[in-house]
Amino acid sequence: MRLADMHIHTTFSPDGKSSMEEQCIKAIEIGIPIICFTDHVDFNSSEINVGRIINKASTNFDVSEYFYEVNRLRRIYNSIQILIGIEFSEPHLFPTEFEDYSSMPFDYILGSIHHCYGSVFPGAKNIEESKAIDEYYNLMLKSIQTCEFQAMAHIDFPRRYFDNWNVSDTIMDEILNAMIKKDIILEVNTSSIMNASDEPLPRYSIIDRYVQLGGRRVVLGSDAHISVKLGNAFSSVVRKLPNTCVIGYFKNRVFYEL
Ligand SMILES: [Zn+2]
Ligand SMILES: [Zn+2]
Repeated sequence: MRLADMHIHTTFSPDGKSSMEEQCIKAIEIGIPIICFTDHVDFNSSEINVGRIINKASTNFDVSEYFYEVNRLRRIYNSIQILIGIEFSEPHLFPTEFEDYSSMPFDYILGSIHHCYGSVFPGAKNIEESKAIDEYYNLMLKSIQTCEFQAMAHIDFPRRYFDNWNVSDTIMDEILNAMIKKDIILEVNTSSIMNASDEPLPRYSIIDRYVQLGGRRVVLGSDAHISVKLGNAFSSVVRKLPNTCVIGYFKNRVFYEL
């Protein structure tokens, strides 16, 4: 099947290592015909999360440069479809900024939660795992309920930080039901996969639950910050998804099945 990588970072993100052009070349090399850049738009990261950020004004990329570069690359690499999106952190906490970015002609807005307690998850040092996770999902639910975006990124992100990670079924059901109700799509994020036995974010049991509750549409995202990770483990993950899942991509914020 054709694949689309709907979560790619570039040097427009403070933690991105590969240029947009390097990501395009990689996509052509490995045969992924549709890619979407989703560089960070983050009004919460004035702290230490990515080292180089010192003040909020320098956090985010220049939007006109971002569009200019995508348009330049579309002319050069016209054998692939290059979509333009953003990954917006904690959208509900920055309603004015979110509205401003939403009014721009992005193909795709990926919502995500990276921060709680004033810093990158789990936030405060030595915080109890269950408290950090509760706060993380409270923020996620609020962002889903109050903002319009196309997909929710890496739903079990806390797994990157806590080994024996757990979340109550009640909270997860509430999140998934809110997403389904608003047609916010589940992202299957493959950045967690290093070995054949690894699971994506979210893990398969949560994807199964999304389907049980009535969710069908999913997007795949490698969350590649460097080109070698583009399309990471896509073919093996696709084989393990429930067969009622519809994999797709967004153009002009409209979902298309692959
Ligand atoms: Zn993210
Ligand atoms: Zn990302």
